[in-house]
Amino acid sequence: MQFYAGAKFGRLTLRQRLRINPRISPTIRKQWLADCECGTRITVPEYYLIRRPNPKENCGQCPDLKTTKTKFNVEFRIWLMMLRRTTNPSHRSYKDYGGRGIRVCEEWSDQVTGFDAFLQHIGPRPSERHSVDRIDNDKGYEPNNVRWATPKEQAWNTRRKQRHARRTGEPNSDEQGRRAEPASGGHVPEV
Ligand SMILES: [Zn+2]
Repeated sequence: MQFYAGAKFGRLTLRQRLRINPRISPTIRKQWLADCECGTRITVPEYYLIRRPNPKENCGQCPDLKTTKTKFNVEFRIWLMMLRRTTNPSHRSYKDYGGRGIRVCEEWSDQVTGFDAFLQHIGPRPSERHSVDRIDNDKGYEPNNVRWATPKEQAWNTRRKQRHARRTGEPNSDEQGRRAEPASGGHVPEV
């Protein structure tokens, strides 16, 4: 039995199983009261403790854990969504990414060090209007192929590639359904 009072997940210790609330979505319906080593008590769904990537293993407010992940939470969510749409076939955009062979390079995929490496390369997001753009749409998320771009810059980049395709007669990957990548990092209810 994985979930029981006293079980530890990182810094969290489960204390008490909460009564199931049928109005909560089934994935996160089973919840626990848990104490973090920093003294904070939280309510946490079982699913968050075992999800991959990014299982929850602390309260999210530990004073000594102000890592790049918490300081750059927006970028962190964007990184997570990048991994999901390239690796998770049930993600709604998978067919445009993982399904087309678009991958995140090995260095940025690492669950422990990948985010820091990605952030170091691309830098903080310049504004809310910027999202991750792949400079060559047929290449993956890898060094020298990603940048922050506004929707306008991305559209320009797409048109330039279409012109290039017409000139060279190469098949145009943009016709396979390029979309603006979610600027907000998509729907992650909680990290
Ligand atoms: Zn804590």
